[in-house]
Amino acid sequence: MKTNLLGLDAAGLAGFFAELGEKPFRVRQVLRWVHQRRESDFTRMSDLAKGLRDKLAAQACVEAPRIVGDTLAEDGTRKWLLKVDGANAVEAVFIPEARRGTLCISSQAGCVLDCAFCSTGKQGFNRNLSTAEIIGQLWLASRLVESRISNVVMMGMGEPLLNLDNVIPALRLMLDDNAYGLSRRRVTVSTAGVIPGMDRLRDECPVALAVSLHAPTDALRDRLMPINRKYPLAELIAACRRYLERAPRDFVTFEYVMLKGVNDGEEHARQLIRLASQIECKINLIPFNPFPRTEFRRTPGERIRKFAQILQRRDITVTTRKTRGDAIDAACGQLAGAVADRTRRSKTLRIAEART
Ligand code: SAH
Repeated sequence: MKTNLLGLDAAGLAGFFAELGEKPFRVRQVLRWVHQRRESDFTRMSDLAKGLRDKLAAQACVEAPRIVGDTLAEDGTRKWLLKVDGANAVEAVFIPEARRGTLCISSQAGCVLDCAFCSTGKQGFNRNLSTAEIIGQLWLASRLVESRISNVVMMGMGEPLLNLDNVIPALRLMLDDNAYGLSRRRVTVSTAGVIPGMDRLRDECPVALAVSLHAPTDALRDRLMPINRKYPLAELIAACRRYLERAPRDFVTFEYVMLKGVNDGEEHARQLIRLASQIECKINLIPFNPFPRTEFRRTPGERIRKFAQILQRRDITVTTRKTRGDAIDAACGQLAGAVADRTRRSKTLRIAEART
């Protein structure tokens, strides 16, 4: 089995080169070839000694997930379907904006958390993505988009804090100046509120943190997000405070999906004010993205604006997420989309493979 160099951060590569009997400065050289020049052919890594190139060709590889779908929406949003093994595919989405380009990537195939409003949850949990599969999404997208990827958000499929062994080396590569060189403020991990994971991320690789709040009381959050029964709001807020001691930004972003008639009333806004005033935070309202067989509806725009105003009047910073990539099902929580009907997809895949 060849070692996939995409899966190794600087420390991992240092270990790998030590085993090969190579000098430590090779780490920097190879990181740059792989992540900055996105070269996967060792014979083309011209400043490596011939002997090392041969060794690498024999023992290593640079292998990203295979692109099996590539869709461009009218607003420029581009979505890739990536096959990670015979049975699983995940998605990555690039969202170009005036002053930044954000890549949204996945951390798991499926998800165990089963939030009521999320379509990924409906397909159940399949497996953790490896570091190579996580960073491979950024590697591929960087090759394919012309504009710069200035921000990465782990808001695709899966719960990143339940896969930290593989997520942390991927984050380190995003931050590494010899790889993607992103600042900690421009890399965001989003969690449903896995408290031990928040503490570990804070200690090992603090980046910007987004927390999927979605409800201002335990009673409602218990219903929408089963994980709240394990890690209720008071503990979650305390964990956010601990996180902020080391966070690169001085606030936590609370994501709040607007579900018509469920969590979008004036009383919810007032409860949310009480919660938000306990901690430095910004609130990001997300219009719900419907998917087949969901019981939920999107709060109308007018109601979302009203909800935002109630919070703003109390000096809470609120943004409302623009829904983008709707036509290609690239919006939040829709990433699982077709994965749920895996049988049909794998048939399509087989047909595509047979053709090529
Ligand atoms: N598991 C992580 C990250 C993945 S989801 C988390 O929970 O934060 C990224 C964001 O999209 C989360 O805030 C999630 O709650 C939200 N989301 C999920 N389903 C959605 C839907 N149908 N419409 C709008 N947002 C949704």
